[in-house]
This record gives sequence, structure tokens and C-alpha cells, in this order.
Amino acid sequence: MKCASCGKVAEVRPYGPGGSLICFDCAFGTPESKKATEKAFAAQLNAAGPVVVIGGECGPVPAPPELGGRVLS
Ligand SMILES: [Zn+2]
Repeated sequence: MKCASCGKVAEVRPYGPGGSLICFDCAFGTPESKKATEKAFAAQLNAAGPVVVIGGECGPVPAPPELGGRVLS
């Protein structure tokens, strides 16, 4: 996907300003961006619940029930 910050086509994550999709270089290129990325990651991780799946371009998401996630009604 295309990085919302630099425009490069790369693997992206939703840790840019306002949840925008940014590439690894933009996420960790400077100490400031690294700090913002870690904060955004932690916020999404906490919001996703006690059992999460990590590794996709969406960032942490709630795990499906077969992996131990909660069933939301
Ligand atoms: Zn970028």
C-alpha cells in the first residue's frame, strides 16, 4: 500500500497522524516519529482487547474466538 507520509509503495501500518497508514521508515525514521508510532501502537493494542492478532497492515486486531478472542455481541 502507499505510505500516507512519503508516498512510497511499501508495507504500511496505521500509526501515522490520525491513524494514517505509514511505512516503516516514516514510522521509525526519527526519534519523534518512533515515539508517536509506539504510542499509536500501544493505543490500538489496548483497544483491541486482551487477546490480539498482530502482523497485518491493520495493526493489532482482536483475535477470533478460535484463537482465544472474545465474542462480541
Ligand atoms: Zn513513508
